[in-house]
Amino acid sequence: MTPLLLLGRGADPDSERGVDCPGALPPASDPTLVARATAAKAALGESVFVLGHHYQRDEVIRFADVTGDSFRLAQQAAARPEAPYVVFCGVHFMAESADILTGPDQQVVLPDLAAGCSMADMATAVQVDDCWDVLADAGVADATVPVSYMNSSAAIKAFTGRHEGTICTSSNAQRALEWAYGERGGSKVLFLPDQHLGRNTAVLELGLELGDCVVFDPHRTGGGLSTQQLRDARMILWKGHCSVHGRFSRAAVDEVRARIPGVRVIAHPECQYDVVTAADEIGSTEKIIRMVTESAPGSAWAVGTELNLVQRLAADNPDKTVVFLDKTVCYCSTMNRIDLPHLVWALESLVAGTVVNRITVESETAVLARKALEQMLALA
Ligand code: SF4
Repeated sequence: MTPLLLLGRGADPDSERGVDCPGALPPASDPTLVARATAAKAALGESVFVLGHHYQRDEVIRFADVTGDSFRLAQQAAARPEAPYVVFCGVHFMAESADILTGPDQQVVLPDLAAGCSMADMATAVQVDDCWDVLADAGVADATVPVSYMNSSAAIKAFTGRHEGTICTSSNAQRALEWAYGERGGSKVLFLPDQHLGRNTAVLELGLELGDCVVFDPHRTGGGLSTQQLRDARMILWKGHCSVHGRFSRAAVDEVRARIPGVRVIAHPECQYDVVTAADEIGSTEKIIRMVTESAPGSAWAVGTELNLVQRLAADNPDKTVVFLDKTVCYCSTMNRIDLPHLVWALESLVAGTVVNRITVESETAVLARKALEQMLALA
């Protein structure tokens, strides 16, 4: 492979657009962006593999070779070893997972480094190690299995691998918990970092009681929990949440039912417990797409997930009524950082022999994180 220059770009795109130098980020107003992306992708041919998360903008999704949720994209990243470049149109933790699952000769590019995830940032490695010390002091660490949502940093995935746990996504969280309490033999789960997915899955899918769940707050001494609470709990939920899905409200469910007679409400399991229990269906991203797409013409749906996906579902299903569940919720601002100018910049840079915004995970972290990710892939 030709040695390539590694550059970083994208933390402040507006200040950089239109800079007249090689490799500059093109302005969003450039009318040739679609043609430029098309030409760059054609020039790269089979050497580039573009992955697009369902929450991405339409202008980006149209250039994806594969679209999917984080689980499907993790599988796909591992399944295309012949492509030296993987351009990941999603957020940082997803690109990290792709780097961990791809081969040593493959390079993963995130078109904008500012595309992070507020939920993933709510659990740091130091905080989680401290939590594990608290569990050890309470005498429950040996009985506890870490189950970490895909939406976490590589360091948290490595923690999970180190303690023989598994990663999960919203598609397979039930299976992951069944494995933790079953084949893996745990009597408790430490669920990171999304308390809502953990609680909703434990209570609504596995039949645990709400009282079996406690919330570990990393900003309080001992997580804000007594030793007895830790000993009695079956689910120890990390105090994290999605800044998009966590905003949907029970009042919005009531409002849409009053406004659209016969509407069916489907909510993502990252939504709060009182929202998903008021909904007709709980669905991972893939399940939401499937249920709406396969429903009868004339059906009406109110969908509680990221707005780019809901708008695409509405456009793709003109024979149905598809509305966004809560008018006060907006796009995921970090997913939206990946726009067409950044994609053009990343692709054209590759054509010019320059890898920009490469995402790499340090080897020791990658080995342990890969162990936890492979445990997840084995659960399927
Ligand atoms: S939708 Fe929520 S969990 Fe997904 S990337 Fe955005 S902030 Fe993170």
